[in-house]
Amino acid sequence: MADKFQAVVIGGGPGGYVCAIRLAQLGLKTACIESRGSLGGTCLNIGCIPSKSLLNLSDEFHKVKHLSNKGIEIGDVKLNLSKMMKSKDKAVTVLTKGVEFLLKKNKVTYFKGTGSFKSKNEISIKDNQNKETIIETDKTIIATGSLPVSLPGIEFDEKIIVSSTGALKFEKVPKKMVVVGGGYIGLEMGSVWSRLGAEVHVVEFLDHITPGMDKEISSEFMKILKKQGIIFHMQHKVEKIKKNNSDAIISTTDKDGNKKDFDCDVVLISVGRKPNTNGLNLEKVNISLDNKNRIKVDKNFKTNLDNVFAIGDVIAGPMLAHKAEDEGVAVAENIAGQSGHVNYDTIPGVVYTTPEVASIGKTEEQLKELDIKYKIGKFSFMANSRAKAIDDAEGFVKILADEKTDKVLGAHLIGPHAGELIAEIGVAMEFGASSEDIARTCHAHPTFSEAVKEAALSVDKRAIHS
Ligand code: FAD
Ligand code: NAD
Repeated sequence: MADKFQAVVIGGGPGGYVCAIRLAQLGLKTACIESRGSLGGTCLNIGCIPSKSLLNLSDEFHKVKHLSNKGIEIGDVKLNLSKMMKSKDKAVTVLTKGVEFLLKKNKVTYFKGTGSFKSKNEISIKDNQNKETIIETDKTIIATGSLPVSLPGIEFDEKIIVSSTGALKFEKVPKKMVVVGGGYIGLEMGSVWSRLGAEVHVVEFLDHITPGMDKEISSEFMKILKKQGIIFHMQHKVEKIKKNNSDAIISTTDKDGNKKDFDCDVVLISVGRKPNTNGLNLEKVNISLDNKNRIKVDKNFKTNLDNVFAIGDVIAGPMLAHKAEDEGVAVAENIAGQSGHVNYDTIPGVVYTTPEVASIGKTEEQLKELDIKYKIGKFSFMANSRAKAIDDAEGFVKILADEKTDKVLGAHLIGPHAGELIAEIGVAMEFGASSEDIARTCHAHPTFSEAVKEAALSVDKRAIHS
């Protein structure tokens, strides 16, 4: 007889494993199926965690190399790339094993294999020897994530033409790297290899980087990255990539029709990701997709089938680990009869470059488009004592508040620890706070967070330190 579960989650990424744990906490007999042989999904295995590890290590390398500017002489600084990669791999292993422990602790049954629909209530699991196990389930949650997109006719070999996966494991520092797409992945991975010594060129289709980000922040971000040595080619379209034995030539056309070729050792294609519904056998049960091939769900994450749900990168919305996690919790609570909910207005986005860039809520451009009247408060890290004390004072905090009610509508930061500072604004926004609420909250001195308080004060033109 087939094993029977109350809930089966297909995919063990941040959406799937978090959902499975919450379902089990709520008393449901739960299974989680993962095909890659290791839990944690894209995020822990080939995404957030290895990239943040390399961002941190390359930043430390870069900083140590320049310490003599601050009066600390330490002689020759050398890179040992294979050791650095081992350090990154160790972080991944520790965390993925940690997730396996959490599933066990919460009594979630973990199946290693590829899950697919046999019927509405039966899931087939094929392991890497192609051995099939069939389990029965009342409810199924699809959390199969996303995959990198390439350019038409161009295939990743993960050596010369790479996706983020290849860019996380180069065996030597490329001399010249071309990054196609100036979004999250391109700028984070471009920063890593630039700090380790590569000449990095970013070829971007639009006239600005990180589309969707507040424009003022995005242009400051590009200025800072240029100063760090990254070379930008904006409004360039990649026409073709010719791969040779050990390098590639990229042919581009700019907005005026001028053609330009780039030769390079490696090319990172980071032009977005697509939902992953491969091998799920969705046709068998007639699950509907939207026009971007994402699984179509209602506000309770329910597909067109009553007992099948979907969350994370495989549905609409920002492709972020914390969004997937929150959806995982919400859908589990809904299935258990509670009122799970995700507030899409307060999902932060962070680019983990140096400095970090973080944003939450509406951008100025969105407020204009929505015809919402707003006030702006801004404060530069140049006037923040902690940032000055440690000579890390690039960037600023920008808070947008409703012109009449003063309610915080959005915040956009570029600067030291921006990814941590944004959490305070997230909590404030969840409580419907005004900029005055933030301004009247006592912030410790000397901290970077005082820049948030001063930006809030500046909404009503009463910043003290500028
Ligand atoms: P995934 O993490 O993709 O997990 C889905 C899992 O399902 C995969 O492990 C896959 O093997 C498995 N699977 C697929 N099909 C099947 C099947 N049929 N049967 C069984 N298992 C299956 N987000 C952030 O918030 N912060 C970051 O700093 C960040 N950095 C990133 C850096 C990089 C380089 C990349 C590529 C992404 C990054 N992201 C980041 C995005 C983040 O990784 C994703 O948004 C997140 O992993 C989505 O979670 P998910 O659970 O929906 O899907
Ligand atoms: P992205 O959507 O962030 O950026 C893609 C960029 O490529 C855009 O600037 C776009 O204009 C450009 N582009 C698209 N087609 C192009 C073309 N033909 N030629 C030149 N440029 C082109 O996508 P990504 O960087 O691949 O990352 C995918 C997703 O992964 C992100 O959207 C994000 O959700 C997630 N991610 C998040 C983090 C983080 O949270 N720190 C880090 C990495 C990835």
